[in-house]
Amino acid sequence: MEILRTRLIPAALLRAASTGAFQVSGPLNYRHGGRVQPLASDEERARQQVHEPASGRMICDFICSGQQEVDLAVQSAKEAYVTWSRLSGLERSRILLEAARLIREQREDIAIVESINTGKPISESRIDVDTAWQAVEYFAGVAGTLAGQHIQLSGGSFAYTRREPLGVCVGIGAWNYPIQIACWKSAPALACGNAMVFKPSPLTPLTAVMLAEIYSQAGVPNGLFNVVQGAEETGSLLCRHKGVAKISFTGSVPTGSKIMETAAESIKHVTLELGGKSPLIIFSECDLENAVKGALLANFLSQGEVCTNGTRVFVQRDILSKFLKKVVAKTKEIKIGDPLLEGTQMGALITRPHLDRVLSYVKQAKDQGANVLCGGDLFVPADPKLKDGYFMKPCILGDCSDEMICVKEEIFGPVMSILPFDTEDEVVQRANNTNFGLAAGVFTRDLTRAHRMAAALEVGTCFINNYNVTPIEIPFGGYKMSGFGKENGIATVEYYTQLKSVYVEMGDPDCPY
Ligand code: NAD
Repeated sequence: MEILRTRLIPAALLRAASTGAFQVSGPLNYRHGGRVQPLASDEERARQQVHEPASGRMICDFICSGQQEVDLAVQSAKEAYVTWSRLSGLERSRILLEAARLIREQREDIAIVESINTGKPISESRIDVDTAWQAVEYFAGVAGTLAGQHIQLSGGSFAYTRREPLGVCVGIGAWNYPIQIACWKSAPALACGNAMVFKPSPLTPLTAVMLAEIYSQAGVPNGLFNVVQGAEETGSLLCRHKGVAKISFTGSVPTGSKIMETAAESIKHVTLELGGKSPLIIFSECDLENAVKGALLANFLSQGEVCTNGTRVFVQRDILSKFLKKVVAKTKEIKIGDPLLEGTQMGALITRPHLDRVLSYVKQAKDQGANVLCGGDLFVPADPKLKDGYFMKPCILGDCSDEMICVKEEIFGPVMSILPFDTEDEVVQRANNTNFGLAAGVFTRDLTRAHRMAAALEVGTCFINNYNVTPIEIPFGGYKMSGFGKENGIATVEYYTQLKSVYVEMGDPDCPY
């Protein structure tokens, strides 16, 4: 297929991303397009290149936002917050519904940009865009329902509570689900009456800019949702900023830990969506075909670059050989290649160093005695344009044990480790024997066992007879070192608001003096 791949990304978008900062409005925005030019000269700013994982080619580069851009973004968000927070929920809802409609309308454009930038198959990017507009639509609905409580007290006195926004929230995203993360953070933040400054990963800066344009078109007030671009330094400036009330972070455990430390300096609210090493537990009475599907969904979506992935696949010993035969055969059939082609089932990993890191985990696993049942090596597509892409074949490691590094550490690539087990008690103990607690999966036809397992597993989400499904209605977030705070579902309101109590005296104050 003769396509000029990077031409598929609108030039205006590349320009918008490359200015290093995007602001829906504010004191220094351009009248048309609402973009802010970095204030410092190019020489003073770090530049960041962005590559297309499938071809290795550079898509664009941008100048990282520094202190001045961060100050501007926070200041204009603060100003916009004053008006936005005073709107009724229904008024905010109307604007967010229009934003959801626009994301739906631009679904294909956003999905193409997302696939070029992340390397994931277009079919998956479309689903990511769906989860993005669904978040905006869902929280648009929630906006009108925010309410406090009335509490009756003695002597006719009473109290009431007010659910109030926090102020300027910062959203910081990982590179694996850029548009989804931007919406899962901004939609509840804005619905609850907050402003947001969002920083996408420097590897995937593009679709957050598309979202900012959409919010602007939908009628979100100027300055309320701003995008700044950059890496660790820019993120750290945002987290330290005195004008920021809350940080919602999605990324790795070490970065989450640093962010929590920074936030502690000025007592900011924090939500952390971090990494995982989730167990997928397959009992012998399960529907085997479905369990195989579950294992594939739990390991190979988005090239395995999914935080919730059930990479420790515990299989009850009496069905081990049947399960392995089926899962290895299916894995070998996975169509790897151009993320933009319909029918591609696995695209390219995010960067060359990340690909090398994943491959080195496979090598280390072999050195520690694991048996490579399939994949685990480079894949070179037939298309010469993709010869420098970061592709690998999905891998299944047999004969694993709980002490192996591939079983203990988050690999964040398409590598499934198989761990046989005998009893329910044993598997619960082994599944929980980790510092992570993001998710788990259980395949069984035994109803009581399913619910016993759901209660026993120390995780934020437990999937029964499915995996990696994240409907917007369900709260999502980790236990243990996988983080705290929730995204999605009505529970999210708690994390983007604060509760004020108002005491009303109806008699005379009872005063001893
Ligand atoms: P990362 O921690 O390297 O970076 C995440 C973001 O933090 C980036 O935008 C980065 O620029 C920024 N950052 C880095 N240092 C910072 C600092 N000191 N202060 C503020 N911001 C800083 O993670 P990544 O490599 O982009 O993403 C992969 C990780 O994200 C994996 O561990 C994965 O499990 C996790 N993840 C978790 C979820 C979830 O919802 N739980 C979802 C997706 C990814």
